[in-house]
Amino acid sequence: MANPRGFLEVRRAPAPERPPQERVRDYAEIYGTLPEDELRHQASRCMDCGVPFCNNACPLGNLIPDWNDLARVGDWRRAIDQLHATNNFPEFTGLICPAPCESACVLDIDDDPVMIKQIEYWTINHAFEQGWVVPEPPETRTGRHVAVVGSGPAGMAAAAELNKVGHRVTVYERDEAPGGMMRFGVPDAKLEKWMIDRRIAILEQEGIEFRYNVEVGRDLPVERLRADHDAVVLAIGSRVERDLEMPGRDLDGVHLAMPYLYARNRWVAESQGRPAKHAPREISAAGRRVVVIGGGDTGMDCVSNALREGAEDVLLLDVYPEVPASGRYPNTPWPVQPRRLVTTYALEEGGERRFGRQVLGLEGTGGRVSHVVAREVTGESSRSLTPIEGSEFAIEADLVLIAVGFTGPEHAGLLDDLGIAYDRRGNVRAGSYATSVDGVFAAGDARVGASLIVTAIAEGRRCARVVEAALR
Ligand SMILES: Cc1cc2nc3c(=O)[nH]c(=O)nc-3n(C[C@H](O)[C@H](O)[C@H](O)COP(=O)(O)OP(=O)(O)OC[C@H]3O[C@@H](n4cnc5c(N)ncnc54)[C@H](O)[C@@H]3O)c2cc1C
Repeated sequence: MANPRGFLEVRRAPAPERPPQERVRDYAEIYGTLPEDELRHQASRCMDCGVPFCNNACPLGNLIPDWNDLARVGDWRRAIDQLHATNNFPEFTGLICPAPCESACVLDIDDDPVMIKQIEYWTINHAFEQGWVVPEPPETRTGRHVAVVGSGPAGMAAAAELNKVGHRVTVYERDEAPGGMMRFGVPDAKLEKWMIDRRIAILEQEGIEFRYNVEVGRDLPVERLRADHDAVVLAIGSRVERDLEMPGRDLDGVHLAMPYLYARNRWVAESQGRPAKHAPREISAAGRRVVVIGGGDTGMDCVSNALREGAEDVLLLDVYPEVPASGRYPNTPWPVQPRRLVTTYALEEGGERRFGRQVLGLEGTGGRVSHVVAREVTGESSRSLTPIEGSEFAIEADLVLIAVGFTGPEHAGLLDDLGIAYDRRGNVRAGSYATSVDGVFAAGDARVGASLIVTAIAEGRRCARVVEAALR
C-alpha cells in the first residue's frame, strides 16, 4: 500500500458492461474490463487492513490485499501466481462471483468497496494473453486412480488438485460437455462457454481424462466404479429443484427453471456450431407473456433468456421485500453478503420485478396456463410471510417458470446405490468430506447445498486434500 490515502483520493469506477439495449439482442458476454492504468489506480484503494475481512469472506481465502498491491505496481506475473495459489479458476469467479469479498471490504462500511473482482478478472485474462497459463502435468505418478463424478466447478477443482499430486484422475460427466451449472444453468451472456473449454483443455493436457455422456449409477454401475478406482469423489451438485405445490401446477406451459435453462444453453451451443444435445423447442418464451417465480440467480437467468428469445413481456415475482437502497436488509449488515441485489443485469435489459408477491396458484384454459394468481405479502423470510388483506390479483401468463431454489442432490441411482448417508437437509453427509462409505468423498453443492462457484471450487480443493491424505 504505497499510498495510504489511496481510498480517499480515488473513487471506485463503474465496472464496464455493454449497454443493455445492445446486449439483449445477442448472447455474447455482457461484461467488459477497465484499462490497465485504471485498474492499477483502483487497486491503490485497497487499505491493506490489519484484519482483511475480504480474505476471510472469500470461501477460497484469496490473498486479496496481496494481489491488490501487486496489481497496483503492475506486477501481473506475481499477481497471477498469488491468485492461482488459492483459486484454480479465477476466470470464472472474476467474472460471475457475487463477490462476498467486496461486501466484506472495510470500505463498504461507508464507501464503495475496492473492485476486487475486476482486478481478479483482468489479472487472469492478462495471464492467458501473455501465455502464462500453461499445462503443468505432475512429474511423477503415484499409481493411484481417482474417479470424480461430476464436472462442475467442484469436480473440476478436485480433479485438478488430485492430478497435481500425481494421482490418475478420470472425471465422469452425464452431460455432453463439462462445467455443470456454469455451462447449463448460467447463460452465455454471463459466461461464454469457450472459457470453460479453454480451462478443460489445460486440465486434459495435464493428464486428466474427461468422459462425457456417462451417468454413474446408470451407464456405469457403482460396483464397477469402485472396483476400477482407489477413491471416488462425488461432485454431483444440488440438482433437485424445489417445486411449488399449488393449484394449476400441472397445466401446460408451467415448468421448472432448469429444463428451460438447459434448453436455452443447448440452443445457443447448437446455433454456434458447438456440440450439444438437441434442444427441444417446446419450452420457449418467444412471443409469450412470461412470469418467473423466484428472484435469485436462477430467476434472473430465466429473465435474461426470455428477453433474448423475444418474449412479449417478462415479470418476475419475488416473495422477499424490496431491497433497501443501501442494498442490505437489516439482517445482513456489513460484512455479511447481501441477500438480493438492488438491480441485476437481467432487469436492466427489460422485464419487471415485483417484490413481496406470493404466488397462490395458476389458472388455465384448455389445459394451458393463462393466469398466475398471487397476493402481496410482508416479512423478511419465506417462513414468516404476512399476507396483505384484499391484495390478491391475477396476471396473464402463457409461460410460467418456477425458480425457487434446490432441495439437494438426487438420491436415486448413484447415491442410493452406494448406500450414502444424508444429513438432515438431504445433502450428502460428509462433515470432513469423507462420506459414510469407505473410500467415497463428497464436495460442492452435493455436500453443502446450492451455493456459489467460489464455494464449489473451495470445496473441491479441500476435498482433494482429504482424499490425498487417505490415499497416502
Ligand atoms: C441458473 C444458475 C445460475 C447461477 N449463477 C451463478 C453465478 O452467477 N455465480 C455463482 O457464483 N454461482 C452461480 N450459480 C451457482 C453455481 O453454478 C453452483 O453453485 C456450482 O455450479 C456448483 O458446483 P458443483 O460442482 O457442486 O455442481 P454442479 O455445477 O451442479 O455440477 C454437478 C455435475 O455433476 C453431474 N452429475 C450429476 N449426477 C451425475 C452422475 N450420476 N453421473 C455423472 N455426472 C453426474 C452434473 O451433470 C453436473 O455437471 C448459479 C446456479 C444456477 C442454477
